[in-house]
Amino acid sequence: MTPYSTGYYRNPNDMHGGDVNASDNIQQTALHWAAVRGSIVVADVLLHNGAQVEAADVNGYRAVHVAAQYGQTAFLNHIVARYHADYDAPDNGGRSPLHWAAYKGYADTIRLLLFRDASQGRQDKEGCTPLHWAALRGNVEACTVLVHAGKKQELMVKDKAGFTPFQLASDKGHRPVALFLSNAQRAQSNRWGDKFCGGKMGDISYAPILLSVILLLIFLFINSVLAAPNLPKVTAAVGLWGWTALSLAFVSLIMLYKCSSKDPGYIKTSGDLGGDGDTEDPLLNVDLNNSTVWMGNWSQLCPTCKIIRPVRSKHCHACNRCVEQFDHHCPWISNCVGKRNKKDFFIFITVATLTSFLAAVVAVQRIWTGIPEVPIQETWIHHVAVRHPGVVVFLVLDIVIFVAATTLTISQASQIARNITTNELANAIRYNYLRSPNGRFRNPYNHGCRKNCTDFLIHGYTNDDEIAWPPRQLVAR
Ligand SMILES: [Zn+2]
Ligand SMILES: [Zn+2]
Repeated sequence: MTPYSTGYYRNPNDMHGGDVNASDNIQQTALHWAAVRGSIVVADVLLHNGAQVEAADVNGYRAVHVAAQYGQTAFLNHIVARYHADYDAPDNGGRSPLHWAAYKGYADTIRLLLFRDASQGRQDKEGCTPLHWAALRGNVEACTVLVHAGKKQELMVKDKAGFTPFQLASDKGHRPVALFLSNAQRAQSNRWGDKFCGGKMGDISYAPILLSVILLLIFLFINSVLAAPNLPKVTAAVGLWGWTALSLAFVSLIMLYKCSSKDPGYIKTSGDLGGDGDTEDPLLNVDLNNSTVWMGNWSQLCPTCKIIRPVRSKHCHACNRCVEQFDHHCPWISNCVGKRNKKDFFIFITVATLTSFLAAVVAVQRIWTGIPEVPIQETWIHHVAVRHPGVVVFLVLDIVIFVAATTLTISQASQIARNITTNELANAIRYNYLRSPNGRFRNPYNHGCRKNCTDFLIHGYTNDDEIAWPPRQLVAR
């Protein structure tokens, strides 16, 4: 596209009866030029005065293509929502706005187009999908958005030269993109394999392993630590501590069940709300200038759930839902940790820490006092390993659990005290709301350690309503 001179329309309200559909030597109309700058005001004036929203230039570019080429997401949304511009229209090369946004690497524009169901599988005249274009240019974020929101078939589509997006990226030396695409391909072929076998274990889930380990630990603790025939009978004090540890182990089993089965805070989709979402465009009345609701963040659109999600939420690719106050997806509980189950998760890891600590102390005490003399030719460790293998296995597993649970409890406690999620800490750089006007890190949800902790202990979460996005049905009204 040629560079644009300024001043084509110095005052958009002062048309003086000029022809709004007049075009230049490459048949670009004023609307094309407005799209370059993303000027919504100019577009409104032009379109209200009879400009054609679908006017195409010599390359077949319409205003939607130009807006996508320049990453003018708000402009694109505006002409689609208000003037029903065709966001899937092909240009002369068969490329849709999604092809162009992918090629130029405008992730927000891609999100908007996917949110609106733009075709991801469309191939241009060279057989390239939008993913081919993103891979060709080595746009990591564009590829990520396209793959995560897509149907995954695009990963295997070949262009006319016989290349998949992965092959294009690796040919061009875009290593991060090639790595991402090859991982995505592998994950996808595993998933298809699972479907073929009738399983639904597409994403890694260790909850059954964790449950088995806890049950094994309880079994070993009863049989090899408390009631071992080759150890002296337990004293009343040790017995009391032993039974306390066992009771805590059962509490942790209940908490494991609770946090893995509970809704972590899935955000309702239009389908959940009764499917009236088709009648009105959800993005029609969004006030994009109102910073208290919009936060200037197109990443709040979820192309998969078709919702505008609240700030602090995130789409979990393992659960395939958006989760409110998303903390992280924990494969050990096979569930997300979010607004609704974070308290259960915290209780679970705290109880697990206490239980494993107490049980380890009891086990060490039993061994220490239970073996009065070790024969001279034997080392103490060798003696214990041979005579009490159950206790050794128990201690090793128990210490692994103790270290993991303690680490997790300390990090979660410090995050609760600051009212920040694991996801926000890991991706702070990507979230505008975690930055002050001068670009430094700032957490608007931190209400002070004491309030953060009391809110968490009473409700399980803090109330972010004052800065959160209103529910979708309010937005569409
Ligand atoms: Zn989602
Ligand atoms: Zn999840």
